[in-house]
Amino acid sequence: MIGIGVDIGGTFVKLYVMNERGEILRKEKIETSYEHGAEGFLKQIADFINQTKAQYPDQQTAVGVGAPGDVDNQRGVLRYNPNLKFKDVDDWPLADILQRHTGIRPHVANDATLAAWGVYERVLNRQGTNVLVVTLGTGVGGGLILNKELYQGSNGTAGEIGHTKIASVKNGPQCGCGARGCLEAFVGTIGIKRRVMEGILEHPQSILAKMVEQEKNFKIELVSRAAEKGCPLALKIWEDTGFFLGIGISNCVLGLDTDTVVLTGGVSGAAKYFLPSLENVLHHQQIQTPFKKLKLVVSQDPNIGGVGAAMYAIYRETKTNLTK
Ligand SMILES: [Zn+2]
Repeated sequence: MIGIGVDIGGTFVKLYVMNERGEILRKEKIETSYEHGAEGFLKQIADFINQTKAQYPDQQTAVGVGAPGDVDNQRGVLRYNPNLKFKDVDDWPLADILQRHTGIRPHVANDATLAAWGVYERVLNRQGTNVLVVTLGTGVGGGLILNKELYQGSNGTAGEIGHTKIASVKNGPQCGCGARGCLEAFVGTIGIKRRVMEGILEHPQSILAKMVEQEKNFKIELVSRAAEKGCPLALKIWEDTGFFLGIGISNCVLGLDTDTVVLTGGVSGAAKYFLPSLENVLHHQQIQTPFKKLKLVVSQDPNIGGVGAAMYAIYRETKTNLTK
């Protein structure tokens, strides 16, 4: 069986062709083109699927599609996405359209959800029974493996850890989703930037303040570079990041009693600075049992979204074949 993984983003679409052993046979990154509308955009993805199908005529092809936003995984519909700039794509029937062009029914799910499956297969080798995967980037997403199966919830939205509340919903900082007090408003890149700017006002002479002043565009990497130089403000920013993340993660662990938590995504690259304070929060919970043996893993793999989509499609189709 051949698995095709499609990772749709607002700027790029990543396409992967994989075999059942989990090897990447082909990888492509194309710009998300808005020129020919939503239909033209999907046609481009369908062309890739059809080409691949023609390339491996004697093999079954499975397709997985990870889309950002609110996805109905059962109907394969992207209900809502604030990052894609197509018009009229609310309730966008991705699976139906791709099936019409390719003859293959794709498995469509939220991108962070499929990335979580990628982590489970590639990073954990399916070790662990109940796993929470937290994706740290511009947004804070998540995915869940429960009883060794990908758990998508009743509506396909399970794992929205970024929008669980860790501060006052009345006075907490505003999140991109419109609410206040969300975890993402503290540890998403915009939340980190806000805390950096607040810190700079208080410590204008700090190494971080000077670095931010020199660079035109703020990058999270600056906070790590300043921390590397021993800047107390930068170290405090990471320490607080670990603290906030610790609260968010402990809330999930208390609710789900997972055995493993994996941190992934760009911001997890700074784990060495924020992990001690994160672990400190986990180790100082009143209810200790779910935290005693909890495994905390950090993994960075920029391919994991598309790889997860391809591998999940292979997994699901293999299962279907077995029950036929
Ligand atoms: Zn939010």
